[in-house]
Amino acid sequence: MSQGHRVEVHKFGGTSVGDAGRIAAVSRIVREASAESRLVVVASAMSGVTDQLVAAGTAAARGDRDQGTRLLDAVLARHLEALERLELGEAQEVVAEIRRIVSEVSDLIRAVAHLRELTPRTRDDIIAAGEKLSVRLVTAALNRDGAAARAVDADTFLETDDHFGEANALMGISDRTIVAALRPRLLRGEIPVVTGFCGRAPDGATTTLGRGGSDLSATLIAAALSADEVTIWTDVDGVFTADPRVVPEARAIRQLNFREAAEMSYYGAKVLHQRTMIPVASLGIPVRTRNSFAPDAVGTVIDGRITPGSHPVKAVTAVRDQCLVSVEGKGMAGVPGVAARLFKAIASARISVTMISQSSSESSICLAVPGERAIDAEQTLKREFRSDIARGDVDEIVARRGVSLIAAVGLGMARTPGVAARVFTALARRGVNVLAVAQGSSELNITLAVDHDESADAIRALHAEFGLDRIDTGEDVARGFDLILLGCGKIGRALASLLRARRAHILERFGLDARIVAVADRTGFLFRPAGIPNEELAEILESKSGGAQLAARSGAVSGADSLAMVRHVLSYRLARPVLIDVTDGDDTADAILEALHLGCDVVSANKKPLAGSLAQFRALIDGARASGRLLKAEATVGAGLPVVDTLEMLLATGDRLTRAEGCLSGTLGFVMTRLDEGVPFSQAVADAARLGYTEPDPVADLSGADVGRKAVILGRLSGLAEADDAIEVSGLVDSKLAGMPLAALIEALRAYDAPIAERIANARREGRALRYVARVEAGRITVGPVEVPSDSPLGMLKGTDNMIVFTSERYAARPLVVAGPGAGVDVTAMGVLGDILRIAGERRPK
Ligand code: ADP
Ligand code: ASP
Ligand code: MG
Repeated sequence: MSQGHRVEVHKFGGTSVGDAGRIAAVSRIVREASAESRLVVVASAMSGVTDQLVAAGTAAARGDRDQGTRLLDAVLARHLEALERLELGEAQEVVAEIRRIVSEVSDLIRAVAHLRELTPRTRDDIIAAGEKLSVRLVTAALNRDGAAARAVDADTFLETDDHFGEANALMGISDRTIVAALRPRLLRGEIPVVTGFCGRAPDGATTTLGRGGSDLSATLIAAALSADEVTIWTDVDGVFTADPRVVPEARAIRQLNFREAAEMSYYGAKVLHQRTMIPVASLGIPVRTRNSFAPDAVGTVIDGRITPGSHPVKAVTAVRDQCLVSVEGKGMAGVPGVAARLFKAIASARISVTMISQSSSESSICLAVPGERAIDAEQTLKREFRSDIARGDVDEIVARRGVSLIAAVGLGMARTPGVAARVFTALARRGVNVLAVAQGSSELNITLAVDHDESADAIRALHAEFGLDRIDTGEDVARGFDLILLGCGKIGRALASLLRARRAHILERFGLDARIVAVADRTGFLFRPAGIPNEELAEILESKSGGAQLAARSGAVSGADSLAMVRHVLSYRLARPVLIDVTDGDDTADAILEALHLGCDVVSANKKPLAGSLAQFRALIDGARASGRLLKAEATVGAGLPVVDTLEMLLATGDRLTRAEGCLSGTLGFVMTRLDEGVPFSQAVADAARLGYTEPDPVADLSGADVGRKAVILGRLSGLAEADDAIEVSGLVDSKLAGMPLAALIEALRAYDAPIAERIANARREGRALRYVARVEAGRITVGPVEVPSDSPLGMLKGTDNMIVFTSERYAARPLVVAGPGAGVDVTAMGVLGDILRIAGERRPK
């Protein structure tokens, strides 16, 4: 058609032409678009008018002519008022047209009231008038604004069958008549303003395409004209992840494949008529859905692309007022043809089936039909299976009303295992009872029947489960494993390079592609939803070790605290996100809680969130449990040693811990060994700091605060000592020394050299050695220097090695010992990596 000109079809829904102000806005949109393209405008009736006409027809059929006339008068008044407000000047002709259309309907209403019968044919004639009226107003507004618009009634050219109320275009015929009616107008430079919703039956009668059918009018016209694009202007910013009236946090979807859009409209997304996509999908004509109230919003584009994006499920929809009819009976198993008979019977009664579900035992088949056809369906089946019921092969035919069908839709589902399991888990957690399930062979959707009262809950649960309120990263991440690094100090940097080195291994072992998507330090954070590229990450790590600040990098967000960072990053639809706290901060508990709440697993190498108040510890554990997330903290107790893992294993197998005791500080172990060798205390500490074994402030180690935290975490995780005041810590030095520069601290520690050397010498004379021991027992945690036999396991411990001795009911006589390197950046990073891999194991694609 185009011969160098673009052709676009613009359809305006009922609210978009709802009053004079809206119609003026339509005129602006159309004139702007017409600068670049030839346009066909399709308009719906003003919002509510079709309902009024339906009501007028129904009232007349009851014999209530007055009510019918009253409704019609209201329709007339509304259009005349809008016309007046449009301030057209000379509008006699338009007024006459509007009066003529209304008076024709008025004649019909009178006839119906007289006969007390409303045939589908007459009903269509009545309700199609809404579009005829609105089109006159839109045309008048465009003409007023200088555009060459002409009103065109679709029942003069859009050929359909005679299935009144739900007519179908006559393919092959309507294409030609649409072209014949509209093309000459376009070539003349006119803008045809066509009535949506209606067409012409073979005998010339007016038909309608089903409620909401103007969308279909637009795509039928676009297909016939080989248009370049269709825009459906409505009252929301596009096609949403769920009906925004049911799910307030629903978002507009940027792109949908034709099949996804078709599936969504079929399963209840009212924004598009069920059959909208049929004419355009095979031709690949893109359909945009935009908001006429906010023309600057990008809206949704529906085309042939397949973009699963960062999530398999794109939207959740619902069809209300359905009836589930089931045919049940043990005798049905193995009897061929039961399903075929059932569908044939239903089809010949012209009842459309919205869902089919068969139990695997074959002892029941269940189908959903629109509520208004419930009685028909039940009776049809009772008739069809009468003899089977008599024989006892079929027990009964049960109809259940008030059912909603919920559909989770998305092309990515086909390639993503476990979607159905997530659907069921999410619904079970909300206590929603699933009555029947169907998954199409296309795996484009999963459909569930639920009781109407539970429908909104079900939609919200699925919307949350699939993170549909989040921004799509646009990445295809069926195998994604997105890591958020909170903290970029020594451990964070070591971990980042470990992860890079192990990426191939993780992919091979767990089928997951581990990518760091965000890095934060105290100054800010950098977030790349599709993963921070390797080179950029390497550069960040390099510059961080040179003391640079993240906030200074381009693209970084500066100044945000960890909670704000978590919120921002998790407002995107990441894949299996894990927050990793490798900071030393005592303010990350809120960020961790929020992450858990937002569906993110957490690894903490930071002891402070877990060793803070007992209430905070419980909140974190409960938060993880409530959201079904994992909170791992292996590195908080024995760095890389499997201390927590061993403890969890003991408890999980039903053992009961009676005592845990050990040397939990590699730093203090190192210092003790140096003391055994005769090195002065201050010198031993200086050596430890130089070798990177101490916390940033060595006093955290020497005062026992750090070991104390480990012991508290152990006490809490084991359930042995949970009270806030259960712990007694005696340090090697006064904690008031905290916060000094290192050199000054070492100087101050000289005062301890002599007394400590003497204590060591005394102990040695008695065959004992000084060790810094943490002990967790029922109701009590003690941490401090203890003299132990030199030939005991703790006495023989050397260097930075840690050791923990578990005594339990099962390990009573010979305790279970976990020992090995327990300090240093690299082993700690290994401990964190271990936790990340445990999460990968849980979250891997099944
Ligand atoms: P129009 O009159 O423009 O044709 P409709 O009322 O037919 O508009 O469709 C738009 C309405 O569809 C929205 O206001 C919204 O409430 C509802 N709706 C239901 N599901 C969705 C969804 N998934 N996305 C967008 N809108 C939806
Ligand atoms: N006016 C018709 C209806 O209300 C058609 C449409 O709006 O698309 O159903
Ligand atoms: Mg609509």
